Amino acid sequence: MLISIVAPCYNEEAVLARFHEEVQKVSEKLLPLGHDMEFVYVDDGSRDRTLTVLKQLAELDARVRYVSFSRNFGKEAALLAGLRHASGDAVVVMDADLQHPPELISHMVQLREQGYDQVIARRTRTGDHFLRTATARLYYRFVNRLVDVELVDGVGDFRMLSRRVVDAVLDLTEYNRFSKGLFAWVGFPATTFEYENAVREHGRSSWNFKSLLNYGLDGLLSFNSRPLRAALYLGLCLLVCAGLYTAWIVGAALVNGVETPGYVTIITAVTAFAGVQMIMLGVIGEYTGRIYYEVKGRPHFLVKATNVERAEKTEGRT
Ligand code: UDP
Ligand code: MG
Repeated sequence: MLISIVAPCYNEEAVLARFHEEVQKVSEKLLPLGHDMEFVYVDDGSRDRTLTVLKQLAELDARVRYVSFSRNFGKEAALLAGLRHASGDAVVVMDADLQHPPELISHMVQLREQGYDQVIARRTRTGDHFLRTATARLYYRFVNRLVDVELVDGVGDFRMLSRRVVDAVLDLTEYNRFSKGLFAWVGFPATTFEYENAVREHGRSSWNFKSLLNYGLDGLLSFNSRPLRAALYLGLCLLVCAGLYTAWIVGAALVNGVETPGYVTIITAVTAFAGVQMIMLGVIGEYTGRIYYEVKGRPHFLVKATNVERAEKTEGRT
């Protein structure tokens, strides 16, 4: 079995060589068992020497393929590029910052041989800030009520995929990619095992509150159109309430005549409705924005440098 290691790298010059060394060690252990390995590293427009390090690695190890983007296109684009350039019978997707322990690859191979198409590593959230753990838990409980695929807390992109899963994921050409959801959407027999999360040693996580929030929204919106439906229902409810209230006001005015000007009521109603309308506009806007990006059909990424011959300079829709 040829195993491809796909790792997106963004400003990872400090750990990249160590990372490669670690996976190489694993590959040495797997070689006697009849498993070959190749490495597909995607430089996501890093600002540091990541590309230089990648070129050095490729010179020392012929199994290293690298693809370097013209700018930072984001982890999802890097993952996609990695999957496209991986030729293995099985593909391991993992972070290059050593937070996904390479030793686990052997374990994944064992499970893969038992016939699972997706071997998923689920991290325990030890060492995480308790606020992040709590928000994550809340988020997943909420999201799983809404979306059509099941997303599990602690399950990230660290997993081994069979060739048919990779091909299926590559057939999904949408522009807004939410890999976690895409992998879940594809299905096929899957198994999950747990591992202890390693703390990042070098550099900083590129996630901040805002990007996490956006990631969360992507997860919510990419897999269903239920928020649109909710908007409709909410609008209907409000309309009924407003109708009843109007009937009551008019009735009262007819019986008692017009009393004090209903300043408070009007202001309350106006602000409440304006707020609701803004929310609904936002929901629709979110979807429209996504449609806008989809119809433009722009490539997910542009390649600046690579040692993979068959890599096209621009990768549009397949
Ligand atoms: N990454 C990337 N492009 C980006 C941000 C991150 O390719 O724009 C890579 C990064 O190099 C790492 C992985 O994605 O290999 C996970 O990133 P990070 O460690 O920042 O996220 P976290 O581990 O906190 O989820
Ligand atoms: Mg990380």
